[in-house]
Amino acid sequence: VIERIVRCVQDVIDECDLKMDQVRGIGIGAPGSVDSAKGVVSFAPNLGWHDVSIAKELSKQLDVPVFLENDCTVSMLGVYHVELQAKPSDVLGIFIGTGIGGGMIIGGQIYRGFTGCAGELGHMVIDIHGPKCGCGNQGCFEALASRTALFQQIRAAVKEGQDTLLTEMLGRDLEDMRSGDLRKAIRRGDKLVARIVKEAAEHTGIAVANLANILGPEMILMGGGVIEALDQEMMPVITKTARDHAMDGALKDVQIVASQLGDHAGITGAAFLARRELSKGSR
Ligand SMILES: [Zn+2]
Repeated sequence: VIERIVRCVQDVIDECDLKMDQVRGIGIGAPGSVDSAKGVVSFAPNLGWHDVSIAKELSKQLDVPVFLENDCTVSMLGVYHVELQAKPSDVLGIFIGTGIGGGMIIGGQIYRGFTGCAGELGHMVIDIHGPKCGCGNQGCFEALASRTALFQQIRAAVKEGQDTLLTEMLGRDLEDMRSGDLRKAIRRGDKLVARIVKEAAEHTGIAVANLANILGPEMILMGGGVIEALDQEMMPVITKTARDHAMDGALKDVQIVASQLGDHAGITGAAFLARRELSKGSR
């Protein structure tokens, strides 16, 4: 993975007609729990990583300073510092992609918690009888509403013989399925995909209601690839379900919005992270 990242960075620099010595720093968002001070990915279940010194390794190979944060924290930094003009003091970010992660700004600061792992809201259990999650639990938010979960439900339904336009579009084994294909199918009247996406949006609305009751944020930002592709299909359902299930008053005057940065929140935040950390060093 590290070798691929190195190659990827070199390719981007070439494509931009730059040279490595014009790059002052690199920011990285890594999945799982990270020790940002040491630049170490402590545990990333989806990569099977334990204690990988990714920042040091990349810095050695690319010869520039490298800064590391959790991927959702990085997305949150991008949305908060680059997208939001007003800086609300309490913001909850929910990012739905391959998995589901979150970021919290509390009192204007990123909240990490005592263990540094705060914000793992994808593993909030929504349905104790629900499908098995990668973390070993059952019925986690991520196991119900991530892209992985959506694709699994669609593949299972096709195996059972249910009809969907997706098999016409992509072939029987649904290879190379993307979130955008789900949007296309729904807009062409695909009932199966519409139902599965609506259920995921309802589960997301329940998660939003629970989190609003606990945190009392001023703003809730939804981001990630799934929301970017399906915001028109999902956002009205998410908002309505959240308002139906939150405590009276918990969502009063609270904005629930889709991030305009979409899937670019992460790279934007990673660039912001590198710039901020470098400016600390030069003080
Ligand atoms: Zn889980």
